[in-house]
Amino acid sequence: MAHFQDLTPCSYVREWEPSSLAVGWLERGHAYPQGTVDEKFFKALLRLCGNPWQPPVAFAGIHVCSLCQFAGRLAGTSYFGAGGAAGNANVFIPGETKVFIAPTMIVHYIDAHGYVPPMEFQEAVLKCPEMRSMAYLKAIRALGFSLRVTEPLNPL
Ligand SMILES: [Zn+2]
Repeated sequence: MAHFQDLTPCSYVREWEPSSLAVGWLERGHAYPQGTVDEKFFKALLRLCGNPWQPPVAFAGIHVCSLCQFAGRLAGTSYFGAGGAAGNANVFIPGETKVFIAPTMIVHYIDAHGYVPPMEFQEAVLKCPEMRSMAYLKAIRALGFSLRVTEPLNPL
């Protein structure tokens, strides 16, 4: 998995690099902020990561936790049930001026490794509309993600 410093342009999706900021791309050997987070934030993030909207872009590779001593390959799966989203999904959270891109593995980093994401990301998660809702897609587009939406919109 790639490593990006928090709040730096996320080149994981090259076309969107100018509109996006990386959050939670942790890798062993790189320091990261540690502490505790509000449970409300964690639950909101868990909900968004459980069924994240994914743009019509092919993401290569699978996210493996390099911070775990042994369980890295399986880490995160229990949050979403068997065959869940953890592993190779990313979550796109509209912020004030840019879109935050985080791997869904971020919930595992917070829960198991004490990672504390930037405050502006936490605030954006609490404000984020339901995944796939019209409000969500509008927010993402307004921040410069010109997207061809290939799946039906959530009527809510
Ligand atoms: Zn881990």
